[in-house]
Amino acid sequence: MENYHDYMVRAMAADKQIRAFAITSKDLVEYAKNIHSLSHLATAALGRLLSAGLMMGDMLKSKEDLLTVQFMGDGPLKHLLVTADYNGNVKGYVSNPSADLPLREDGHLDVGKGIGNGNLTVIRDFHMKEPYSSTIPLHSGEIADDLTYYFAQSEQIPTSVGLGVLVNKDGSVNCAGGFIVQLMPFTKQEVIDKLSDNLNHIPTVTEMLKEGKSIEDMLRIVLNGFDIEFTGSKDVRFYCGCEERKDNIIATVGKDELNEMIKEGKEVETSCAFCEKKYKFSVEDLIRIRDSLKD
Ligand code: ZN
Repeated sequence: MENYHDYMVRAMAADKQIRAFAITSKDLVEYAKNIHSLSHLATAALGRLLSAGLMMGDMLKSKEDLLTVQFMGDGPLKHLLVTADYNGNVKGYVSNPSADLPLREDGHLDVGKGIGNGNLTVIRDFHMKEPYSSTIPLHSGEIADDLTYYFAQSEQIPTSVGLGVLVNKDGSVNCAGGFIVQLMPFTKQEVIDKLSDNLNHIPTVTEMLKEGKSIEDMLRIVLNGFDIEFTGSKDVRFYCGCEERKDNIIATVGKDELNEMIKEGKEVETSCAFCEKKYKFSVEDLIRIRDSLKD
């Protein structure tokens, strides 16, 4: 997979009162667009969420933990789901990948209307521990806004999320990425005021990336006037890994549906929702998988 240029960084600023993440994700968004045949609108929506998922995955504590973010809306895109880990791997899909809408008056893709009203759910799967899940109503459906709201409401962390995907006329991805900045509990008021002033005056994510700014530069612009210490960098990629868990792909239809398939007595072909890879299951496979399921 040619995801050679995508990476993310993390940083601390203002004497550790601010933590920050930034990502450039053009290649993996382009990859997702190609495997899922995404419309321009779906490319922008899923691209934003893949970028955010990776930065939120970077907040996980352990290499085995997984982060899943779901947007369930009443707009034409319907359902977006992204899963990321701590190691820079992400996968995701849009349930209606061909959905498209007219551009907004400002010329931008109308992701907010594409998702519509509904809920946002964040699930953290911890290795050997109970998963944590939190659901909130959608704010605008623009994804960055909704995640900002999520951090404030569910995690009580004042956060600003900026995300952007610029889709060329031919559907290819011009640039994609974003940033997340968060305030630590002991942050001084003057730091809060300065940061919010910065956030009110910065260019958009796509404006910065389109100009060829690096993500380090992007954070320097967001955190202008603060001392910044870059504390980590990692490569990121679209990676599914379903080969190792291919039985799960068919098992999700449930026992009744499996019994129907077994009754049909034919080989079944199905594809992975995350990466579109096709798998064939013989009747013997179906029986074995059915028998492995609990009632
Ligand atoms: Zn897959």
